[in-house]
Parts: sequence; structure tokens; C-alpha cells
Amino acid sequence: TTAGIALPEDPQDAPLSGELLQRFAAIVGDGNALTAPDDMAPYLAEPRDLFHGKAAAVLRPKTVEEVAAIVRLANETKTPLVPQGGNTGHVGGQSPRSPRQIVLSLARLDQIRDVDPIGRTISVDAGVVLQRVQEAAEAAGLLFPLSLGSEGSCQVGGNLASNAGGTGVLAYGNARDLCLGVEAVLASGEIFHGLRRLKKDNRGYDIRNLLVGSEGTLGIITGAVLKLYPRPAGREVAFVGAASPDDALKLLRIAERHAGGGLTGFEFMPRLGLDFVLRHIEGARDPMAEPHAWYVLVEVSSSRSGEDARDTMEALLADGFEASLVEDAAIAKSLSEAKAFWHMRESMSWAQKPEGGSIKHDVAVPVARVPDFLTAADAAVLKAIPGARICAFGHLGDGNVHYNISQPVGADKEDFLSHWREINGLVHAIVADMEGTFSAEHGIGLLKRDELSQTKSATEMDLMRAIKRIFDPNNILNPAKVVQI
Ligand code: FAD
Repeated sequence: TTAGIALPEDPQDAPLSGELLQRFAAIVGDGNALTAPDDMAPYLAEPRDLFHGKAAAVLRPKTVEEVAAIVRLANETKTPLVPQGGNTGHVGGQSPRSPRQIVLSLARLDQIRDVDPIGRTISVDAGVVLQRVQEAAEAAGLLFPLSLGSEGSCQVGGNLASNAGGTGVLAYGNARDLCLGVEAVLASGEIFHGLRRLKKDNRGYDIRNLLVGSEGTLGIITGAVLKLYPRPAGREVAFVGAASPDDALKLLRIAERHAGGGLTGFEFMPRLGLDFVLRHIEGARDPMAEPHAWYVLVEVSSSRSGEDARDTMEALLADGFEASLVEDAAIAKSLSEAKAFWHMRESMSWAQKPEGGSIKHDVAVPVARVPDFLTAADAAVLKAIPGARICAFGHLGDGNVHYNISQPVGADKEDFLSHWREINGLVHAIVADMEGTFSAEHGIGLLKRDELSQTKSATEMDLMRAIKRIFDPNNILNPAKVVQI
């Protein structure tokens, strides 16, 4: 149990022998095999403080060949490896669990290999931080649209391994949709050379797409080819006050009608979420004079001009006012104000931390069902924990709600968190009834592993285990994450 949450038990492995540790250390050289507790600490803790990792060592290879040598030795000696990128994952996939496990950090594979402005692709090492990919695209006059609150520290390998979503999914898709090719080290130590740049390639089964979203359980991603997009000529961001999620949803339809594929953001948050941000995030400022029950952050992009984006935004808001869906709206007057609006939305997770315990969900339901989901889930949660503070926010345009619940004011944190599984059960049952998913973008890792086998059919679970056995017969790649074999 950690922070009140019952997790699957840690494996009771014998510690790694000193002699074997030396052989691993020799591959990466002095200074890149960390074993001292203080050196390992940043790789063992994670942002939510839910998982407290245990490991024999952290290895920091510099090249694909070093990664391959580590994996080959691990396979020969049946040593479990836990791949780690920026360590920002929300489900514990990157956390090692026993004194025999080795953290394989990809951070030093950090080269941008190539930008192709004609084919609109970028080839990168897996350890390149997402923000650097965005910056390299911008320097080439292009756009890499994957955008997450953690973009300053998460890495491409982690983004692909977890098939990250974020705020750009509405217009551009998730990490899988943005990936053309993958290079990976397989459990045998062999390198899978899949760095293709083709939009079309129907030669049989798609190994790339098995590796993407496999959370480090099928291979170690070492490089990728990603798609780039033309940079919009104009972009407008508005903060909108609305009375209800239902009104926000109706506004989404209006926004889609006006902006079409140029609707590049449609995020929602409750007043409580904004209150948390105003209270805890430095520099945050309420853009509106009066409080509103709900807020929507709308972003419109235009390939033509800034004026076109502005006209579209104004037209959609005017229709929204007309239909009494918009109570108030503030269009960002400058790039820095647009960034400030986005910063408030992206700070929503951090702003919950100082409010005490927070029980999290990452659910998706069909977009039209989001208001019904919120009504049903709020009723169930408040019946179970009167006074619970519900902060449901997220990617309304994708039907993806981060249905987070902060502890009642003055409650005991541990006692509140001990309800984690019970509350997950209530919320996820409503999601299942609506044919939704209990993991929209964060993956399974360790936190949701047992629930996965309860919600997928036996046939699907058997197929997943069979795939794992083929890719990793000795169960050395992130064992016990996602599926147990
Ligand atoms: P890690 O956390 O290091 O690892 C994640 C998983 O991938 C683990 O299972 C790990 O073993 C595996 N892995 C990592 N690198 C490799 C590799 N090279 N090869 C094989 N397996 C590997 N996620 C979203 O989807 N959408 C969001 O909007 C979003 N917002 C976030 C906001 C904040 C503030 C934070 C802290 C997190 C957010 N996340 C979000 C979660 C997280 O940032 C993403 O899942 C991210 O893609 C993880 O990347 P990482 O490099 O940190 O991976």
C-alpha cells in the first residue's frame, strides 16, 4: 500500500549480485551507472508521490548500441529492466519495484537526428524532451502539435510508449497518430529498424503500432520519426464562462461548425479548478469580472491569417452569446496572455496538490455523454464522501475527463485516500455503462493493471499476454506492468 492506495504487491526478488551489477556498469562506463541512494532518488520518486520505487541501479546509456548491450545481458541473466523517460507518467509504469530491477534511463539519447521540411518529418532519439521537438519544428517554420503539461520534462520515448494525448488531440490526434516510424531494442537485444517516413506502408502487421502504447513492456524505444505540420498563420485563444457542461458541449458544436479542422483546443474546467489555480499558481489571474460555474478554453488556428482566426473566434463566440451558451468571454489580447490562459489550464493538476489528497481518474466517454457522466459521477461520489471537492476538467472535445476529487476541507489525507479504490469503482462503473474507458490517455502501468483484466474480455487479455510472451519470453521488459504473464 502506498499513500493509502492498494497497489499490486512488489515482487520478492533477490537483490542483483555485485558481480552482475559490475557487468552492467561496464557497458555505460563511469558515472552512468548510479547505485548510491541519493543519486537514484530522482528516478525512484514520481510527480504524484504515489510510487516509491526500489531498484538495484539506474543505467544511463548514451547510444542505441549501449542500450542493445544492456538488454542482451539482461535477457541472458533474466534481469528485469524498467525503461524510463522523463519520469512524468501518472500510472507508475516507469517506477521500478524490486532490488533486482534496473532502471534504464533514455535521457542521454538526446540527439535530434534530422528535420525534413519537405516531407515534414523530424527524426529524434527517444530521450529528446518533447519541448525540444516543438522548438526544433518551430525553428524550421513548422509545428509539432503534441502538447502536454509535462512537455518541459517528458521525452519522446515516454510519449510514444504511453501513447500520450494532451490538448492537441482534437485537431492532430495522439502520439500514435503523430508517429511514422520507430526504432527499438527488442528483448533479445536485436535492434528493430523501423524508422520509416511513409504515410502509407501496408506490408503486413504493424509492429510500430504494437510498440507505441506498450508502456515499455514489448521493447525499448530508442528513436522515432514524427510528423510535422504547417504552422498556423494565426491563432486565437479565448477563456469562456459557461453555466454548465451541457452548454459547453453545445458551444463545442458551434465552434466546430465555424472553425472546422482549425479548432485546435477545447478544454473545460470548473470554478473550483480555477479557484485552486488562482490560489496556488503564481501569476494566475481570473480573466473575468464575475465568477462562472464552468470555463472553456477555446483555441482557433487559421492557415490563412491572424485576422481569419480572429474573425472565426469572434463569430463563434457571437453565436454562443446569441444561444445563451456563453455567459462571458475574454479573447487573449497578446501572445503572452494566450500563454497565460493555457498555463492556467495546464496547471490544474499541480494546483490540486496543496489542497491535500486527490483521487484521480482519466476517463473518456462518448463526447455527447460527458454531461450525463458528470451528473451521475458527482451524485455517486458525494453520496460516498459528503463534502468531497470534485474538480473535473480536461479535454471536452475528446470526451476525456480528468475526474479528480480533492479531499473535503479539514479531512485526514490518508483516510480520504483509503477510499481510492472504492471511488474508482463507483466512477468506472458509470463509465463502463456509457461504453467509455477508465484509461483515456495515461495508460495502465501498475496503478490500473488489475482493473484492466477486469474490464477487457478474456479473449483480449489472452491475446495481450500472448503478444507479451512472443516479444519478451523471459519477461525482462517492465515486468508486471500492463499485463502479468
Ligand atoms: P515516463 O514517465 O518516464 O514513462 C512512461 C511509460 O513509458 C513507462 O511505462 C515507461 O516504462 C515507458 N517508457 C518511457 N520511455 C520509454 C522508452 N524509451 N521505451 C520504452 N518504454 C518507455 N499525459 C497525457 O497523455 N496527456 C496529458 O495531457 C498529460 N498531462 C500531464 C501533465 C503533467 C503536469 C504531468 C506531470 C503529466 C502529464 N501526463 C499527460 C502524463 C505524462 O507526462 C505522459 O504520459 C508522458 O507521455 C510520459 O512521458 P515520460 O517521458 O515522462 O515517460
